[in-house]
Order: sequence, then structure tokens, then C-alpha cells
Amino acid sequence: MANRMPKLIAFDLDYTLWDLWIDTHVSEPLRRDGNKTNQVLDRCNNEICFYQDVPQILHRLRGEGVFVAACSRTCAASMARRALSLLLVPAKDGDERGAPVAAEKMFDQMEIYPGSKKAHFRKLHEATGISYSEMLFFDDEIRNKEVESLGVTFCLVPDGVDAQAFEKGLREWRRRHSE
Ligand SMILES: [Mg+2]
Repeated sequence: MANRMPKLIAFDLDYTLWDLWIDTHVSEPLRRDGNKTNQVLDRCNNEICFYQDVPQILHRLRGEGVFVAACSRTCAASMARRALSLLLVPAKDGDERGAPVAAEKMFDQMEIYPGSKKAHFRKLHEATGISYSEMLFFDDEIRNKEVESLGVTFCLVPDGVDAQAFEKGLREWRRRHSE
């Protein structure tokens, strides 16, 4: 079982999946240029896009049947949701016939509101019945490590999620569940 996946993997949004604070760096209206993938523009042409490795990580998790969640404490929840509905995730690498997918469809559940992320994870647990020990969370801010008091495995990603940071989180989760 060395390669077992957690049942649920959650990601923060700002500076974890994209390089901005949605509540301070972005202003409405948001728009997408045609069907351009991994790019949404705001009123001032500021770009919202996922970090480079994020789309393929999301495809992998969908393919492996992992429950994927977004957990953000932004106070600009509606703009975050709008960005995720407009942002197109490119097709899976090597999938010639694949079409881009709205980023929001890559997440099974979104918990987006201010406050301690322990509340976000309690909601996830209530909705899914998945135990906290089966949850892995990626976030760029150390204060959110408090979710470990519930039993969630926390992986700090100061520079956001990339393939290497993702593997590091998985290794840590597996190390804790190796018995
Ligand atoms: Mg963040």
C-alpha cells in the first residue's frame, strides 16, 4: 500500500494554486479571451492563472478518484468562484481528444469564507464522512497548520503547489499512514 492516496486532498487558493490574493489584486468584471486555457483577466488585465503544474495534478487526482476540495478564507468568495468558473484547465497531457474543463469542475467541494480553516475541514468531514486522517491539505500560510489538531495532514507550500511540493505532501501523508 506504499502508493496509497489520501481519500481527500484540499488546496488553499491564494498563493497555493495561483499567484495572487483574489480579494486585493483582482477587480471585477472578470473575463476570458475566447477559449484560452489557464487564463482569466480582470478589469485591469491582471491575469489569474494556476501555477504551471496545477492542471495536471488536478487531472491526476480526478483520474485516481481522490475527492478534491478548495479551502480558502478569502472574503471575496464570489469572485473566487467566478474565477474558477471561467478558468479553463487544459486537457490532460497526452489526451489528444480531451477538451479543456472549467476549473470549478475539477473540485468536488469548495469551502470559501473567512475564519479558521478548522471550520472548513469540519464542513468537509460532515459532507463526505471522510475521516480527517484521510485528508491532506496544501496551503502557503503556516497559521493554517492548525487543521492538524483535527488530524488532517498539513503541507506548507511557501512557493505554491508544483509537482515537487505535491510529491512532498504525499510522502508525508504516506509516512504517517504506513502501518
Ligand atoms: Mg493562501
